[in-house]
Amino acid sequence: MDPTYPPEADVYREKVQGFLAEHLPAGWRGIGSLERDQVEEFTRSWRATLGEHGYLASSWPTEYGGPGLTALEQVILAEEFQRAGVPLGGTNDVFSIQMVGNTILQWGTDEQKRHFIPRILSGEDIWCQGYSEPNAGSDLGNLGCRAVLDGDEWVINGQKIWTSAGHLANWIFVLTRTDPDAGKHKGITFLLCPMDQPGVEVRPIKMISGESEFNEVFFTDARCPKENVVGEVNGGWAVAMTRLGYERGEAAATFPLMFRTELDRLMALATTSGATADPRIRQRLAWCHSKVEIMRYLGLRTLTQFLNGHQPGPEAGTFKLYWSEYHKAVSELAVDILGAEAMTPRGRWPASSFQTDDPGAPNDSASWVGTFFNARAGTIYAGSSEIQRNIVGEMVLGLPKEPRGDGGSWRDRQGARS
Ligand SMILES: Cc1cc2nc3c(=O)[nH]c(=O)nc-3n(C[C@H](O)[C@H](O)[C@H](O)COP(=O)(O)OP(=O)(O)OC[C@H]3O[C@@H](n4cnc5c(N)ncnc54)[C@H](O)[C@@H]3O)c2cc1C
Repeated sequence: MDPTYPPEADVYREKVQGFLAEHLPAGWRGIGSLERDQVEEFTRSWRATLGEHGYLASSWPTEYGGPGLTALEQVILAEEFQRAGVPLGGTNDVFSIQMVGNTILQWGTDEQKRHFIPRILSGEDIWCQGYSEPNAGSDLGNLGCRAVLDGDEWVINGQKIWTSAGHLANWIFVLTRTDPDAGKHKGITFLLCPMDQPGVEVRPIKMISGESEFNEVFFTDARCPKENVVGEVNGGWAVAMTRLGYERGEAAATFPLMFRTELDRLMALATTSGATADPRIRQRLAWCHSKVEIMRYLGLRTLTQFLNGHQPGPEAGTFKLYWSEYHKAVSELAVDILGAEAMTPRGRWPASSFQTDDPGAPNDSASWVGTFFNARAGTIYAGSSEIQRNIVGEMVLGLPKEPRGDGGSWRDRQGARS
């Protein structure tokens, strides 16, 4: 682990700081300081500003419209944006740029790159991820959404669930079962499907907060062109698995900063409310402090690998496990500090369900109660804690593999289940 950046980092950092100073309003305190109904409009215009000045899709080469940054520059950019409290892209860009965009760049045909990549950057195509199904979450290889070739088109029938921001998207990358007689990981195909058609129905799911950020997506004879396969027909499992490695360098750099800012807010809340008079609260705050410091070192380890040109492997699962479990604990502490006020939350609710509330958000009870709800999801999405522990146990520590019973065709296994 090498926690120091080379001197050229400072030069690029100043450039990014100059850009932020020029393009953010005077007195800017972070996107959390905006009213909730202003967040979407700000994010849209900020994304356009990033596109105009070549800051969008920071890991993409110039030939595909990205800025062609080095790994170090990508990390500096992400750190400075985190400090300034502005996003690196639009609401769906985690799916559009980081997931499907990177997947097309790695696996797509020249024609797919020429067609889809500019449309992702312009925002014309907005993507969501159709992987999980009611019977296929952690055991994703069990998915049953069917796709059958009919002339020049794939015809898709089945259901996806937990499709984040699916109601904002006009395209979905969807894992489909194309050969039910092959083994469960072998008959899967990765398809690019337009959502603006009668065969695709999006039904929002209401969350405990009362909001709807994710959806069920139903396919009834939905169609996409034959050539919208990424990778090989029946080879979609390999395509779906490779995308999981992207952008981990960025998370390793920014998450410790994000959780430090959040903990500083909680310290301020505890101090002003008088909760710090309680030695048990002080003890728990000190525990959180040491956790965030350890997270910083864990991040630096991943970052060192990333800056040396290695995509973090299965050991990055430790980082995901660590921050998501920590976040449940710190948000529980926040609710304990609020006490009875947590039952009647007031003020501004978080605008997004992922990780912490946005930088600059007021230190309101609604902010912390919303964060408490959201933190429950962190140990589920992108691989639950139990699955991360399995990955770390089997692939990092070399412990014996858990029995899987994956033999036989997918179709036979469905019969065996019923
Ligand atoms: C906020 C949020 C956003 C999401 N967004 C998307 C999205 O955009 N697109 C998408 O496709 N999916 C999305 N998901 C779905 C997510 O990927 C799944 O919820 C996740 O993979 C877990 O699957 P499951 O919910 O079916 O739970 P299950 O797989 O049924 O797991 C239930 C419980 O059993 C445990 N478990 C399962 N298998 C094992 C095992 N082998 N060993 C030990 N324990 C095990 C799990 O850890 C969990 O505690 C999202 C989920 C959330 C919470």
